[in-house]
Amino acid sequence: MQAKDTSLHGFLPSFQHFATQAIHVGQEPEQWTSQAVVPLISLSTTFKQAAPDQHSGFVYSRSGNPTRNCLEKAVAALDGAKYSLAFSSGLAATMTITHLLKAGDQVICMDDVYGGTNRYFRQVASKFGLKISFVDCSKIKLLEAAITPETKLVWLETPTNPVLKMIDIEACAHIVHTHGNAILVVDNTFMSAYFQRPLSLGADICMYSATKYMNGHSDVLMGLVSVNSEDLHNRLRFLQNSIGAVPSPLDCYLCNRGLKTLQIRMDKHFENGMAIAQFLESHPLVEKVIYPGLPSHPQHELAKRQCTGCPGMITFYIKGILQHAKTFLKNLEVFTLAESLGGYESLAELPAIMTHASVPKEDRDVLGISDTLIRLSVGLEDKKDLIEDLDQALKAAHSPSPSDE
Ligand SMILES: *Cc1c(COP(=O)(O)O)cnc(C)c1O
Repeated sequence: MQAKDTSLHGFLPSFQHFATQAIHVGQEPEQWTSQAVVPLISLSTTFKQAAPDQHSGFVYSRSGNPTRNCLEKAVAALDGAKYSLAFSSGLAATMTITHLLKAGDQVICMDDVYGGTNRYFRQVASKFGLKISFVDCSKIKLLEAAITPETKLVWLETPTNPVLKMIDIEACAHIVHTHGNAILVVDNTFMSAYFQRPLSLGADICMYSATKYMNGHSDVLMGLVSVNSEDLHNRLRFLQNSIGAVPSPLDCYLCNRGLKTLQIRMDKHFENGMAIAQFLESHPLVEKVIYPGLPSHPQHELAKRQCTGCPGMITFYIKGILQHAKTFLKNLEVFTLAESLGGYESLAELPAIMTHASVPKEDRDVLGISDTLIRLSVGLEDKKDLIEDLDQALKAAHSPSPSDE
């Protein structure tokens, strides 16, 4: 553990050697006959063997690819893990992990997870005989009560989306591992490997939609999975090859390149996110701001204990009704109205109508996803420009004649 003075806003200090590992692990020039400093994009689907079954370590690109190998090694280092595996999307990673189970097994899934994860468990995995229970795992007693001898997978996501509820990973790991033999998975997409290390908190699997912060440039769909157990690694490696939801070499190259700037990107997302959260919290046209970096967040203490910082995800309630939220979004100029998150560009969206429209209204009400809830993915632009943009759009939303009334 590093000296406390490297911590920001009272969060845990950053993981040691992070930037160095992001830049060097798995990237050794000696692995290429050309001594290339930057990994090659290895497009060949097949590899020459010296004699039948006497090969270089690569046989066929689905089972192993040199560019993917560079990426997987770097990700493992960043997660403090022994192994990492790459998939063609976050959901492809989720599906492959779920194939560790068999019919009759039970999955406990956090009630408030990424919509696609919810849809996959509810509408796809359930067809193959898995029993799926959705539980609010931020309440440890509810998780404990839900575990049965059939529970084989517990799926967490922290912070949740879009209301940024934090879950105590260490406490959940303790319950899961003392009350049964389930595998604990944490979807670490929002925090990235730089702000949160689920494996060191007791999780068995750390997964990402690398489409978001890990790649960080909104130009790759990718899933990543890290583990420490050799047995889990062997089983997942078998499934990665047997199911075949692997990423292309070009995507591996791009995501691997994205990791090189993960630390400086996340530091900036935190800096910008904090400045904007504070600005919004003091704004007269804003009802409420949710940001784990703010002392007003109900789990601010847990965030500081579990994470080394916060990403650029901010949720806030604009004063007024749906029309005000819509006018606000229409007037933004630097923020782009779009789904997704975690890229260098700032995005804004209205979860009730966009990302979370498929969540039934009653469930949205329970989760607090109202018509005035706005989600921001704060990017890497100049924070003064972002704040000015939010300010003018808030004022426009509350000007006497909203533009599209
Ligand atoms: C986007 C996302 C996913 C799904 O990942 P894809 O790469 O889009 O398949 C899973 N979990 C979270 C938290 C996400 O934001």
